[in-house]
Amino acid sequence: MRILLAGGAGYIGSHVALVLLEAGHDVLVVDDFSNSAHAAIDRVQHLTDRTVELIECDLSDLATSRAALRDQEFDAVIHLAGLKAVGESVAEPARYYRTNLTATLNLLEIMAEHGVNRLVFSSSATVYAPAAEGVENLDESQPAGHGITNPYGWTKAMNEQIIRDIQVSRPELEAVLLRYFNPVGAHPSGRIGEDPSGIPNNLMPFVAQVAIGRRERLAVFGDEYPTHDGTGVRDYIHVMDLAEGHLAALDHLRPGVATYNLGTGVGQSVFDVVRAFSDASGREIPHGVVAPRAGDVARAVADPSKANRELDWKAKRSFADACRDTWTWQSQNPNGYTGG
Ligand code: UDP
Repeated sequence: MRILLAGGAGYIGSHVALVLLEAGHDVLVVDDFSNSAHAAIDRVQHLTDRTVELIECDLSDLATSRAALRDQEFDAVIHLAGLKAVGESVAEPARYYRTNLTATLNLLEIMAEHGVNRLVFSSSATVYAPAAEGVENLDESQPAGHGITNPYGWTKAMNEQIIRDIQVSRPELEAVLLRYFNPVGAHPSGRIGEDPSGIPNNLMPFVAQVAIGRRERLAVFGDEYPTHDGTGVRDYIHVMDLAEGHLAALDHLRPGVATYNLGTGVGQSVFDVVRAFSDASGREIPHGVVAPRAGDVARAVADPSKANRELDWKAKRSFADACRDTWTWQSQNPNGYTGG
């Protein structure tokens, strides 16, 4: 198939592009490069020895996007384009709602105009309401779409609803919503990986930057949660496993909207992450406990059995693999794609 990959130059998108190309699909990346690098696309082409077609445009601008895509043919859309910084979304909610919702509405409009019915959407575990007492791992039947603590998470939940409603009006639409848990790691070559702009919000890139010496010490956000060591527990999924989940979703599209968790089913605490990354890198990770971060939950771990069963997909890589591959990327590209 020829896949329109919206947001294909970003961290997750570049790994999805690579996996699609290796599976024999053609890839048309649409990206505005607001938080991504041309070098990622160059490196994907180099790694796969394939050509990635590229359209540089902002999907939240309908007229421009429509014109840019007018003569393009594609069989399916994988939509990962959007703003994703949680803290920034609290400071600039209007920009988050405008960008993330408009991009989805515009893409759906352009898909209808092109007669394209296949859609894989990048959603997030943040759409789940905080787990009720006694609930361990989250499955897709858990309540979602309320109790979300930041506008970024709301844009994901609202985009899910937009896709469901549009599917009702267009029953031929085949959509999959993929609820990502915490993507980490990099392609094992170390050529593509996560390159956050500014100070990383997320744990893994922050830890990697402490290990390489770009940051002095990690602030651990709270150690009094009801978890095995008091620090927050998350389900860290290797980005290559996550990318393979998109390929599996494409292969299992059916009329309707299906929702799948992409996670490992295993939780790691902040201290577990520090220890594993220290082992992988051979570096000390200076860290100290500070107050909890507003909006954080104690634990968010997937029950991925629906995706395992119905998509014939499973996360294969270990957390140690993810730390090793993050370290390969970080040590070979200490300042990300910009070099220097
Ligand atoms: N965390 C931390 N220090 C940091 C960043 C994150 O202790 O500098 C913790 C955070 O409280 C959570 C876990 O690491 O328990 C994962 O946080 P991240 O922001 O990576 O993902 P999310 O909160 O979206 O699951």
